Amino acid sequence: MKLDGLHHITMITGDARRNVEFYADVLGLRLVKKTVNFDAPEAYHLYFGDEQGSPGSLLTWFEFAGARPGRAGVGMVHTIQLGVASEAALDFWAERLAGRGYGGRRGERSLSFADYEGLGLELVVADEGNPPLRALHPDVPTEHAILGVEGARAYVARDSAADRGLLTDTLGFTELDEGGYRLGGETRHFHWSYDAYGERGIQGAGTVHHIAWHSRDEDHVAWQRRVADAGMRVTPVIDRDYFLSIYFREPQGILFEIATTSPGFAVDEDPEHLGEELRLPKQHEHLRPQLERSLSPLSNPRATAGRQA
Ligand code: ZN
Repeated sequence: MKLDGLHHITMITGDARRNVEFYADVLGLRLVKKTVNFDAPEAYHLYFGDEQGSPGSLLTWFEFAGARPGRAGVGMVHTIQLGVASEAALDFWAERLAGRGYGGRRGERSLSFADYEGLGLELVVADEGNPPLRALHPDVPTEHAILGVEGARAYVARDSAADRGLLTDTLGFTELDEGGYRLGGETRHFHWSYDAYGERGIQGAGTVHHIAWHSRDEDHVAWQRRVADAGMRVTPVIDRDYFLSIYFREPQGILFEIATTSPGFAVDEDPEHLGEELRLPKQHEHLRPQLERSLSPLSNPRATAGRQA
């Protein structure tokens, strides 16, 4: 039984409109689902990814409108790495981001920058072996498009072999000689690294809320059992409409989720029109009239482009 790399990473934003502008326009991802936080339906939950919203491509945000800026600290992911195909793609992004007012720092095979709320992002030349998960954007040439999430870095207070047993023995990560870990699945892999840091973080706009690993549907219950057997406090299986989830905190305090492949984002929308209408889970459908009044109006750039065409 193996986890198939990453499923999604979820953040907090204070401004859904800028969130869509930055990720669906500046970075050229596709807004694949516009729904609400199932546990706090007054907040948007927006999903961005490749054309299908494939696991491994997904970055998602809860919008708490006007949320104060947070700061990454111990037990939090602080940087998300997105893959591109080549150094030429890094040149393309350096110019595109600078043109939009987002200055970056160019490394030999990377480009570091921050989003509109200071979330740490890094474009890296992707390893061989991760199938490309691209979205289409009229201003981003296909060969330069983002190819999926390659890795993430988190802050931890201490470096304890006992804590890391959960990663390696329970979840199947491999420790790398050069530092960090690799989660190698059947179809995708993911780089996971820790940086030592002393300060506590503040959960708020521009910070990561949790990271979800990808389980095959048929393995999900077995993962729940395995995590519980490792001494973690794991939730029951929760139906998130687009996948099933379990949650637990790893020993450093980072909130981990394990999510299934199915049913995916086309379960309640035409695949051609993902993320264009507000979708609500059954239990919150009765709130639609008030949510349509209270949530800030958001148009999916893809829908707008379709109307113009
Ligand atoms: Zn999640």
